[in-house]
Amino acid sequence: MTVAADEVVDLCRDLIRIDTTNTGDLATCAGERGAAEYVAEKLAEVGLEPQIREAAPGRASVVARFEGADPSRGALLVHGHLDVVPADASEWTVPPFSGEVRDGYVWGRGAVDMKDFDAMVLAVARDWRRRGVTPPRDLVLCFTADEEAGSDYGARYLVREHPQLLEGCTEAIGEVGGFSYTVSNDLRLYLIQTAEKGINWLRLSTKGRPGHGSMINDDNAVTALCDAVARLGRHRFPVVVTPTVRAFLEEISEVLGIELDPNDPEAAINKLGPIATLIGATIRNTANPTRLSAGYKDNVIPGRATATIDCRTLPGQSAVFLEQLREVVGPDLDIEFIQNQEPLETTYDGALVDAMAAALRAEDSGARPVPYMLSGGTDAKAWVELGVRCFGFSPLRLPADLDFAALFHGIDERVPVEGLQFGVRVLDRFLRQA
Ligand SMILES: [Zn+2]
Repeated sequence: MTVAADEVVDLCRDLIRIDTTNTGDLATCAGERGAAEYVAEKLAEVGLEPQIREAAPGRASVVARFEGADPSRGALLVHGHLDVVPADASEWTVPPFSGEVRDGYVWGRGAVDMKDFDAMVLAVARDWRRRGVTPPRDLVLCFTADEEAGSDYGARYLVREHPQLLEGCTEAIGEVGGFSYTVSNDLRLYLIQTAEKGINWLRLSTKGRPGHGSMINDDNAVTALCDAVARLGRHRFPVVVTPTVRAFLEEISEVLGIELDPNDPEAAINKLGPIATLIGATIRNTANPTRLSAGYKDNVIPGRATATIDCRTLPGQSAVFLEQLREVVGPDLDIEFIQNQEPLETTYDGALVDAMAAALRAEDSGARPVPYMLSGGTDAKAWVELGVRCFGFSPLRLPADLDFAALFHGIDERVPVEGLQFGVRVLDRFLRQA
């Protein structure tokens, strides 16, 4: 076993033990400072010069440049976020910030999202520095705060306030891609992320006539809001198959022997098992109601009611989507953006993609890399503002029976030790050719 594959487990456990819970509210966030200092120390120990930048007290990100052999080439940004979503210990088998190793897994909040990849990047960088390995081009290693709440105190802050730290970056790898989906003993698809849906969190509000709860009121803001929210929650937006999703569906239906109608791919997707929820969300725009708010007393009809809708849009669909949404909710509601991040999509080709595929095949003879679209969002949305071409590639080989998608933000989040070590080996090979 290489030194890096050995060290990655300890690095991952240490990072999980540093609570970096991001509640989305500055007052209750644990902050990333502790994890940022840990990462900076591990990088400084091998002679790199990490820079810590804080967007607000405790909200720290780390950036370090690992100089490559050819300074004339654009740099590769290798990024992972340090924050995690909250975990309720009473629901877990092991304490969520214990980093315990049990049954061949490292357990804890952040084990797959995404302290695993942070640890892999640290392990490879430390190993290379110790052995005197030089990357072919500059690597910008970036560990961010606040990805789980829209990146304002992390990636977006770095892009806005410290773009010089990211100077020259042309391409990037980060979450969520490079993980395996087992088809059979000798065939595993590795999903490389080349597209992300947009994030549009909307606030809908209605106004009505306030009054006494005992009287007739045909202009009740709560009733009007609930009507619109219920319509929207049940609505299915039309199927739109983008180039990434089309390529994915063609590959997967071929290997699984599933009949695919490219214009109506739902039947094929429903046969994919646990990842159907993930892939199913990439063939249409979605709008899920998540919050409701109205009223202050049981017998008072309020004059205003509001709802939050978590909308996710496909590449090229942002404008169309708003028109479709307006049609469903009607003309009288106010619609306001709380979060508006554009979708992104790149092509599945070129030297970097070839290097990813080659590294996967070298470590797993049954590997078949395929492009796919993530229904969620990542820090990539910030990097593209600097013109960086982004991929989700944080390689992991997973056991066939593991419901990987359910581990993200899930109870008993854990990562297989062997998967982590596989990831380190793939990352090492990839970065040598990147
Ligand atoms: Zn994540």
